[in-house]
Amino acid sequence: MSKQLLILGCGHSESITHFNNNAAILTPYGNMLIDSGHTIKHALHKQNMSIANIDAIFITHVHGDHVFGLERIAYEAKFIHNKRITLIFHESIYQELWHETLKGSLGKIGEGEAKFSDYFDLNILTEDNFTIFDTKYQLIPVKHTPNKSTFGLLIDEKIFYSSDTTAIKDTINTLNFDICFHDVTLSEFNPVHATLDSLLVQYPEHIKQKMFLMSYEDSFEQYQETVNQAFKGFAYQGQLINF
Ligand SMILES: [Zn+2]
Repeated sequence: MSKQLLILGCGHSESITHFNNNAAILTPYGNMLIDSGHTIKHALHKQNMSIANIDAIFITHVHGDHVFGLERIAYEAKFIHNKRITLIFHESIYQELWHETLKGSLGKIGEGEAKFSDYFDLNILTEDNFTIFDTKYQLIPVKHTPNKSTFGLLIDEKIFYSSDTTAIKDTINTLNFDICFHDVTLSEFNPVHATLDSLLVQYPEHIKQKMFLMSYEDSFEQYQETVNQAFKGFAYQGQLINF
């Protein structure tokens, strides 16, 4: 049976024209989100989906455009849908995700104190891979904010989804994939995202020709020609990739 990657959002964190850079893996066995930023409900609605359609969520790293939607999903899964979603993340982000981010909002409810596991079935990874819904995921450490764990995903050895990262030439050259969704920023300098120039200069042709660029600013149209020539193009919301 076919599986699909759906781009729910492909905007930079400051974008007002695109949703947060989040995706979904759709399978006959269940649907998994990759990240849940603060625009997630609207992004799902745009694709005729809702929290009720989500069975699992993988978190790449703890930034608002990737995790702030978890607060809403937690409450609605528990109190509206009476549904336990599996939340998957690497153990290295547990402290940031629960104690430093979500607990301030989710830690107390009408019934008293609430734990992380009162909302989600937690799958806290100690290794660099997992399998869910007949799909294999390999966690690929990427280089985003210094000293902050961030993971891209290699999906069924076919799709590489970078999450937020600077250019990672040495890593990407070791991976085998048919298609790639890679972070880009259209600003000239950025210490935590890959600039367009860094990708143009550092990545080999055969990699660039398999790459869609995502997480871009609202000014993207003026870069369209350059990007279409050197890469597969910009990712777009509603884009579906069969794998
Ligand atoms: Zn980030």
